[in-house]
Amino acid sequence: MTELNDLPIRDSLRGRTPYGAPQLHVPIALNVNENTHEISEDILVDIIQRIAVSLKDINRYPDREFTALREQLATYVGHGMQADNIWAANGSNEILQQMFMAFGGPGRKSLSFSPTYSMYSLIAQSTDTDYVEVPRLDRYELDAELVTKAIAEHNPDIVLICSPNNPTGTPVAIEVIEAAYAATNGVVVVDEAYSEFSLNENSALTLLEGRPRLVVSKTMSKAFAFAGARLGYLAADPAICDAMRLVRLPYHLSALTQAAAEAALSHSAEMLATVADIRDQRDRLYVALQDLGLDPYVSDANFVLVGGIENPSKTWQDLLDRGILVRDIGIPNTLRITAGTEAETTAVIEALTELLGAK
Ligand code: PMP
Repeated sequence: MTELNDLPIRDSLRGRTPYGAPQLHVPIALNVNENTHEISEDILVDIIQRIAVSLKDINRYPDREFTALREQLATYVGHGMQADNIWAANGSNEILQQMFMAFGGPGRKSLSFSPTYSMYSLIAQSTDTDYVEVPRLDRYELDAELVTKAIAEHNPDIVLICSPNNPTGTPVAIEVIEAAYAATNGVVVVDEAYSEFSLNENSALTLLEGRPRLVVSKTMSKAFAFAGARLGYLAADPAICDAMRLVRLPYHLSALTQAAAEAALSHSAEMLATVADIRDQRDRLYVALQDLGLDPYVSDANFVLVGGIENPSKTWQDLLDRGILVRDIGIPNTLRITAGTEAETTAVIEALTELLGAK
């Protein structure tokens, strides 16, 4: 049988492991920070109708510039953004990949702050971009001094700041982004995949004016409950979108994706109606974990990283045996738990109480 290593694969890919959060069929999946609320029947019917209309022209390539979608995303994002400021792709992972293709590559360097989203290093590897991770401060916080120093030391072409941070949930103050931008001549990508779950007024969208190397990456996968549709986007200076045009494949956003995303965006208020409840469940989970004598980290996202777990792989398995899937991210003594519906959150709290409560 042929093994991967028998193939004439690029040397830089030898021995690498692909992204692989377990995809298991369980009653309660709280492992990849999805919005676990289902989309309402009315909206689903509307989405299906729009997809049906798009199928009439399916013999033709879709709008390569996805103009209608960019206009709708600009309206949704606000902050004075126009369609020219918006670029979209198949998930914000593809946005990040396109950023690396345009601004990274052999001989170039990227920088982020660990622990952070695992795809940064994987995309750096697949584009042969150097990748440096500088450890965060106590409780995984970031401040302007740490970020400025790291940039001065490593001189990166791409700086990635995840706000709020995955997997820790940590909010990032706007001054930190300003400091990062001032310290580098490279691009600064602020990954706001979870920003809708934050009540803080700290979106980097407020900094875009006059900062052409700043990119705010966002997604419909989380708050918007649209992970399966694969739609991520960025807001930035129009010149950044021109850079994306150089590396994207023609017609990368299918007509079906465009139709579905446009339909969903036309219901954005209803689509986002679950966000307040998810925040409540996150805060409830945080308090319950504290009451159990565990050490949850403050989170502005739709998940909680919890420390103080003696044997995370055993607790992970014990939860799975009860039909609950959470994430063992590999940080010692921690697990990461997505805030689900009220019933799901109750189930995970009850299971943890049973497993760990009698310590
Ligand atoms: N950024 C962060 C911080 C994430 O956690 C994720 C998904 N887990 C993504 C980007 C990518 O999400 P998507 O491709 O679904 O937009």
